[in-house]
Amino acid sequence: MDLQLTSAKVIVTAGASGIGLKITERLLAEGASVYICDIDVAALEAAKEKNPSLMTGVCDVSKRDSVANMVEQAVQGLGGLDCLINNAGIAGPTGAFHEIDPNDWDRCIEVCLTGQFNCARLVVDHLKKSNNASIVNLSSAAGRFGFPNRAPYSAAKWGVVGFTKSLSMELGAFGIRCNAVLPGPVDGARIQAVIQEKANIAGKTAEEFTKTWLSMASIKELIDPQQLADLIAFIVSPLGRTISGQALNVDGDLQCLM
Ligand code: NAD
Repeated sequence: MDLQLTSAKVIVTAGASGIGLKITERLLAEGASVYICDIDVAALEAAKEKNPSLMTGVCDVSKRDSVANMVEQAVQGLGGLDCLINNAGIAGPTGAFHEIDPNDWDRCIEVCLTGQFNCARLVVDHLKKSNNASIVNLSSAAGRFGFPNRAPYSAAKWGVVGFTKSLSMELGAFGIRCNAVLPGPVDGARIQAVIQEKANIAGKTAEEFTKTWLSMASIKELIDPQQLADLIAFIVSPLGRTISGQALNVDGDLQCLM
């Protein structure tokens, strides 16, 4: 299927590793021009070495000055903008909500939710000039279920869904689409760390906890990040032109989080 993305100009936040890098490489494979930002300089260099056409910049999405520089540099380098993938997000603290450090609450909301606002607000004027404009915000299954001992993350990811649906309604008049993607547990280093922390709290091994977790899904597999990249490439392409305001679940039909 030709996704007609050869002229697409895309920013992917936190694109140097994990899911962001998968999305980036999928879009590059379609012929898109991609700018990634990240806070990890070594990971940015490694991503650039692997994908020489990639444009990169250091940026913490929670810092408005840093985001302003990043957007300016990206739009200049790309020669315009068609798409923002708001991928940056951190796991935040694991623990009973009343026992976590309030600074950890603040940091989680700042990166996972406010970071998306910081980037989206500065790209709107550029996206208005595109004839295939869209924003994709990474939420999580924790953005449709309660997630005990991960309250800041869950609160931020529910916030992402409300933010997305509001933007879709505000920006539709300008031909700009906005969607959220809600992955279940994605295979990779980050989810293994989360599983270990939650298993410790539950007094289980990581293997036992993973098995119990997956028993609550119809498709009992961790999510392959490639599936997320494939879905996102489709929805940002001209083929997805009427898909907006959606909270798209990629979670094996998970019924609950624990
Ligand atoms: P990750 O922890 O692997 O991190 C990916 C990148 O984010 C890293 O390169 C890191 O340096 C960068 N980063 C961290 N803080 C940043 C900041 N403030 N500004 C810019 N870059 C920053 O993440 P991931 O697992 O690839 O997750 C990507 C997105 O998907 C996140 O929004 C996450 O919440 C969401 N998500 C992940 C999972 C999962 O199981 N991994 C599940 C559901 C949703």
